[in-house]
Amino acid sequence: MERRRSFPETGTSFPAVRVVARGDGTTSGPFARLQNLARVRVVVGDPPRDWGTGRQEFLVNQQHMATDRLLDMVGRPGGPLADAALWHLEVIEAGALSPSFRRVVVTAPGIEGLQCAPGQDLMLRVPLAGDKVVNRRYTIRNFDAAERKVVVDVSLHGKGPGTDWISAAGTGDRIDAIGPRGKITLRSDADWHLFVGDETGMPGTLAMIEALPAGSTAIALLEVDGPADEQEPEASRADRLNLHWLDRSGRSVPGDPDPLLEAVAGVDLPTGVGHVYVAAEAGVVRGVTRTLTERGLQPDQISGKAYWRRGLPNAEHGEPTKES
Ligand SMILES: Cc1cc2nc3c(=O)[nH]c(=O)nc-3n(C[C@H](O)[C@H](O)[C@H](O)COP(=O)(O)OP(=O)(O)OC[C@H]3O[C@@H](n4cnc5c(N)ncnc54)[C@H](O)[C@@H]3O)c2cc1C
Repeated sequence: MERRRSFPETGTSFPAVRVVARGDGTTSGPFARLQNLARVRVVVGDPPRDWGTGRQEFLVNQQHMATDRLLDMVGRPGGPLADAALWHLEVIEAGALSPSFRRVVVTAPGIEGLQCAPGQDLMLRVPLAGDKVVNRRYTIRNFDAAERKVVVDVSLHGKGPGTDWISAAGTGDRIDAIGPRGKITLRSDADWHLFVGDETGMPGTLAMIEALPAGSTAIALLEVDGPADEQEPEASRADRLNLHWLDRSGRSVPGDPDPLLEAVAGVDLPTGVGHVYVAAEAGVVRGVTRTLTERGLQPDQISGKAYWRRGLPNAEHGEPTKES
């Protein structure tokens, strides 16, 4: 069975994709089957002589790649990645931003066309051993279409494929990414905005604060390791902006819910109908949401997103694993 397959966002086209073996046999047509397989191996060049039937393998001329369900959903109308594209990023700057943070600036062919809103992120396809990848999501701290630059600020929390890649990234390094991703961005109908986050939520919080319309009222409760990791927004048109820093300074560890929960319980909320954006460790997001609900906020006033889970790596798609 022969098909052409093109990837408009990368300008790539595969002249001959040939299904050399059937998958689970429940579907017909190579691309329908592609979705049914957990993982599909795509092999370059001539098929090995010993390929038999029943192998879930595809032949693609010219290019060697491993694909997965997420990659196949990119740009597909009606799907979760309908508005996202695949970008071939190249690092153009990388360095320490503060004791716990590294800033990486990337560019890509066509990146000037990235349509992203403050608070959205890129899903980096971090290479693992062999041809495997694991996805790790990092918020777009700044996007400059004219300069063709995307900035991500990453908290170097310890060990993990994302942190390892970011820690070693240097000028000229390349990585693929899918984006923009993420649904949480500024609510234009809110009378006031409350941002609650740990260091992983800080880049998105700052990007959203910088995008607030003139006259806004905003409060941010941000937890970081210490004063040297505090970052101010580069500019803000908000009339009233209260930025509260919760420095651990050795008194607590990342993911400890107490500092943010106490801050949320005690913060003075402005009058009117506001919106709260929460980005932090999974248990902290849950606790903050509960505290806000107890304070009388309605569920549709709270946009919470778990960015990581204490003691467990994020799943392959880049988000925390569900609790068992
Ligand atoms: C939508 C979204 C946007 C995000 N934006 C940013 C961003 O802009 N900047 C940023 O730094 N992070 C951001 N994150 C969080 C980041 O993706 C996670 O921290 C991720 O777990 C890092 O991957 P890893 O491979 O380094 O570690 P993993 O393999 O996921 O985890 C390895 C170990 O490290 C622990 N761990 C993970 N993160 C932390 C942490 N922050 N502190 C302490 N321990 C940790 C885990 O519990 C696990 O034990 C975002 C996450 C999401 C979902």
